[in-house]
Amino acid sequence: MARILDGNALSKIIKGEIKAEILREKLQVGLAVVLVGDDPASHIYVKHKKNDCAECGIVSYEHVLPGDTTTEQLLALIDRLNANKDVNGILIQQPLPPQIDLTAANERIDPLKDVDAFRADNVGRITIGEYALPSCTPAGVMEMLRRAEIAVAGKNCVVVGRSNIVGKPMAMLLLHEHGTVTICHSRTANLREVCKSADILVAAIGRANFITADFVKPGAVVIDVGINKNEQGKLCGDVDFAAVEKIAGAITPVPGGVGPMTRAMLVRNTLTARGMQG
Ligand code: NAP
Repeated sequence: MARILDGNALSKIIKGEIKAEILREKLQVGLAVVLVGDDPASHIYVKHKKNDCAECGIVSYEHVLPGDTTTEQLLALIDRLNANKDVNGILIQQPLPPQIDLTAANERIDPLKDVDAFRADNVGRITIGEYALPSCTPAGVMEMLRRAEIAVAGKNCVVVGRSNIVGKPMAMLLLHEHGTVTICHSRTANLREVCKSADILVAAIGRANFITADFVKPGAVVIDVGINKNEQGKLCGDVDFAAVEKIAGAITPVPGGVGPMTRAMLVRNTLTARGMQG
């Protein structure tokens, strides 16, 4: 049976470290989370983020805008948050309603307050390996590997998914740790065989239980980023956990794996951003 990489337990340790630093340095740190519309899942994510902030001694500012908000109205709020010295990080919860220009919104965030690295310049910094604010989900995965003492250097790493917020930065962070990285997507030929070559397999697809045991090399480390609902409406990942845990060397559960680590990295990035703002 695989070793379970427990994101809940690890994220608690990390949040404890962040809280200790904030208390020791007597810092005032603030994170603004902007929600547009009434997507139920987004409301739950925002509630979790508020709780994480409270746990760490970070002040959270929640801005809930109606679903018919225009891009101009959202940009005006971002301008106010950029100017507010009490706000060290700004996160715009996705998905946004279709009338909003997501790129314009991301690019309007002060680069020093871009705590999930959505801006193109911050993405570029991640690509060249000179970044202070990594994308939260890939950073959470890397932290999990580091603290579990799973070495990346020289390993075959396969990332399934090429989104700008997960797949691509994930591949970059693995590459910076000297993994040999392959990125797969919906047009990859022989996906099963490519996945089976992985020592470290990261699934960021968004399809329930897509990665079955025949995609996984025995002993591989399997990181499940996906958040889906199965046919019974229960939360599950992209990996068929019950089957894959029998052959993997290590595996993250869903829930309780990458999700809490992502949120821990958001508060950590907010603290880092506070330091960058002087
Ligand atoms: P996304 O933007 O929809 O990207 C999904 C990727 O999966 C795309 O690159 C797509 O390929 C690829 N894909 C889809 N079907 C495939 C198939 N049959 N075979 C191979 N590749 C396939 O999603 P995302 O934002 O990256 O998120 C991915 C998942 O992670 C979602 O379940 C999301 O909810 C979850 N997520 C979790 C966290 C967390 O903290 N745990 C954070 C963010 C996201 P193409 O590019 O070719 O379309």
